[in-house]
This record gives sequence, structure tokens and C-alpha cells, in this order.
Amino acid sequence: MSYCTVIETMQPESRRALHQNYHDHYYGFPIHDDNELFGRLVMEINQAGLSWETILKKEEGFRKAYDNFEIKKVAAYTEADRERLLADPGIIRNKLKVNAAIENAKTIVGLQQEFGSFEKWLDHHHPKTLPEWMKLFKKTFKFTGGEIVNEFLMSTGYLKGCHPESCPVYQKVLEQNPKWLEGA
Ligand SMILES: [Zn+2]
Repeated sequence: MSYCTVIETMQPESRRALHQNYHDHYYGFPIHDDNELFGRLVMEINQAGLSWETILKKEEGFRKAYDNFEIKKVAAYTEADRERLLADPGIIRNKLKVNAAIENAKTIVGLQQEFGSFEKWLDHHHPKTLPEWMKLFKKTFKFTGGEIVNEFLMSTGYLKGCHPESCPVYQKVLEQNPKWLEGA
């Protein structure tokens, strides 16, 4: 069963609503805001070893702790910020994950300077197969294993596969012109 159909059977209602909101409005939809793209990358990285539900529940906590994913601010985090994050129960307190967020923000600042934006950097490299993307992410970012790269690129519309054609959201995603429509 796909994510799309599993949601319908989720209990209790609050749990179902949390997933439904993500599924209906975010999952697979293109993102045209660099900070939001970075935020999705942070969330996917933080999911490693945990459930997506855990991350969705903590989304507000992440936004508060990481300055609403403002890349420039996160890139400028000091040692004190690192300590603050590692003591914040609203997020995932994992040294490698906190470190990845800060280092990846610094990297993205560089990509913005070189390519105009993080989105343009992604567009510049599109289309690629998943193994090619994995190679690129591995040499560019920290803590971006295959599953993370796949989920990040699918959930932002660079790779196909979030919703089957039978899902009502499939059509809504198409209207937003996801990158995968341009072929791989
Ligand atoms: Zn769906």
C-alpha cells in the first residue's frame, strides 16, 4: 500500500490529519523558496532512523529552533547555537544531524552565490537518475544517503513517485509542473 492509501486507515484522527495535511499539500509539490527547500532537506535528514511521523510532529519545533530554516541565519550559527540545538527537545538532538543542517546551510549559501539559488542549482542538474543524484549529493552535502536523497527529490518534485495516478492529489501536483514531467 502506498502512503496515499495508508493514511486513510490511520488512527486516531489527529494522527491521520497530520499525515493528510502533508500528503495533500506538500508531498511531491514543487518548492520555489530556497529556505523551504533547505527545510525539507533538513527534515529528510532528521528522519533517518526515525518515522516521518516523528518529524512531522516536530516540524514546528524545527522551525522555531532553526530560524524557520532561513539558510543565511543557520549558516552563521555559532558554537552556542550548536549547544542550544543539542539541548532542544523540540527537535532531534543528534550531533551529526545538527552539524549537517549547519554545514549544508553553508554549502547552500555557496550554491546560491554561484547559481543564483538552491533551486537553480537543482534545476541545473536536472534531469538525473537517482544514482547520479546520490553521487552529486554525496560530494556536495553532509548526511545525504540514498534514501534521504530519494525522499528529498521525490517530495520536491524532481523525481517521480509520490502519488500514483489513482490518487486525487496526483492531478494537483501535475498542475504545479513538477520537474519530473520534463523527463529523466
Ligand atoms: Zn497521494
